[in-house]
Amino acid sequence: MPLYPYRCRRCQAVTELLWSGFQPPDHVPCEACESEETYRVIGVNAYHRSDAQKTARLDPKYDKLVNATAKSADAASERHLLRRMKPFE
Ligand SMILES: [Zn+2]
Repeated sequence: MPLYPYRCRRCQAVTELLWSGFQPPDHVPCEACESEETYRVIGVNAYHRSDAQKTARLDPKYDKLVNATAKSADAASERHLLRRMKPFE
């Protein structure tokens, strides 16, 4: 079952969600402060192109996030795809 990490915008805590369904939710309540202002961190194991595109629109820190999390060669090539898909370039 894939594990989806979410980061809290308020306290930066990471809440992990085990999700077996087709499409994980966009937000989960933060475990630390119960804020609903969380966003899904795109990990190598939980990667969907359409979701990543959504995140790119919502989160201006997306590039930094990707740079921090994309460490494998696979993720690096996916980053190229994302760059081409980014809506505001
Ligand atoms: Zn929080």
